[in-house]
Amino acid sequence: MFDYLIVGSGFFGAVCAYELKKKGKKVLVLEKREHIGGNAFTRDNHGIQVHEYGAHIFHTNDKAIWDYVNDLVPFNRFTNSPLAMHKGKLYNLPFNMNTFNQLWGVITPDEAKAKIAEQRSEMENIKPSNLEEQAISLVGRDMYETLIKGYTEKQWGRPADELPAFIINRLPVRFTYDNNYFSDKYQGIPIGGYTKLFDVLLGGIEVRLNCDYLSDRDNYNKLADNIIYTGPIDSYFNYEYGELEYRSLKFKHSILPTANFQGNAVINYTEKDVDFTRIIEHKHFDFTDAEHTVITHEYPADWKLGDEPFYPINDDKNMKLFKKYRSLAKMEKGMIFGGRLSEYKYYDMHQVIRSALNTIGKIG
Ligand code: FAD
Ligand code: UDP
Repeated sequence: MFDYLIVGSGFFGAVCAYELKKKGKKVLVLEKREHIGGNAFTRDNHGIQVHEYGAHIFHTNDKAIWDYVNDLVPFNRFTNSPLAMHKGKLYNLPFNMNTFNQLWGVITPDEAKAKIAEQRSEMENIKPSNLEEQAISLVGRDMYETLIKGYTEKQWGRPADELPAFIINRLPVRFTYDNNYFSDKYQGIPIGGYTKLFDVLLGGIEVRLNCDYLSDRDNYNKLADNIIYTGPIDSYFNYEYGELEYRSLKFKHSILPTANFQGNAVINYTEKDVDFTRIIEHKHFDFTDAEHTVITHEYPADWKLGDEPFYPINDDKNMKLFKKYRSLAKMEKGMIFGGRLSEYKYYDMHQVIRSALNTIGKIG
């Protein structure tokens, strides 16, 4: 009945669906949630676009990807400049001259470099092998203790010296007074929210919501010769080798009768004993003028089977397990596995889109 069955309507599934439709293929999308868009989904709340699964800011250096998404829907000029709250004091992020000034009172880049060099000396001759060592060797112990350690340990639910170093390399360290969280050339948010973009990607395509492919896979398999699967890879194989681990999140959304709650889209709370990691105020993502506001407290959470799998835990143990599943996946005829959950990868949106386009490109 269909050329392709696509499991999941997040960026990977939706871009594949859009590209296949352009090639004249008949596509069916199954989505187990009650909405499209995966974790990038935004829900309208009286004119405010709420990022239901956490703040999503589109940023990329890949001009072709930036042009691709802007051809779908217009983007605004949002630039992510989060603040970090620690013991009642606000700091700018990412680590830049403003942060160094707030922490140490230094004014010039040379003063900041000298201070960091002094702080880094404890890491001399040590090759960083975990997040704690990597963070101290990047910005020194003061910054680590104030802005990184507490946030990281509550976010990931384990000590920073047991976490892979690469996680912290996502954050830039700059010697300019520039609070832009990302260093990419292009950045913004779809005007009117991400769901508008997914409406375009999935326009004219049959999408069945509230449908879990795995609950009836024998019947769904009969509908198409080819399947693109974007769910968790271990679930596809019935956890044959065991469960891959994730970190989960809980979101508490609140509507408040005030026009401006915190004056910024994102404020991180870096102390370990504050139990949430950030407060998001959604109207600042798209400069909405409304009399009310919607805020979200983001709480990190342990993950167990059945919870939403948000962040893959790419440590050695889980990567070994993932590779076993990947070998099984390679042997599955007519199946393509892609996206954050199937590739068990800490992908950003632009990377997932690139990966989906490459996948469809290979199909020909
Ligand atoms: P998903 O969005 O997870 O989509 C997979 C879909 O498959 C889901 O809708 C799921 O319900 C569905 N599905 C799974 N199993 C089944 C099944 N058995 N049957 C039917 N449907 C199924 N990226 C950025 O670029 N910038 C950011 O600022 C950013 N912030 C983030 C913040 C948070 C809190 C998180 C968790 C991620 C963030 N990301 C960000 C990453 C971004 O969310 C992902 O790159 C993107 O959503 C991945 O798309 P995907 O299609 O691979 O997966
Ligand atoms: N991080 C931190 N303090 C902060 C913000 C981030 O220590 O105020 C660390 C933390 O370990 C986090 C990592 O940097 O997991 C990457 O941050 P990013 O904002 O990229 O996380 P994500 O957007 O994936 O939640």
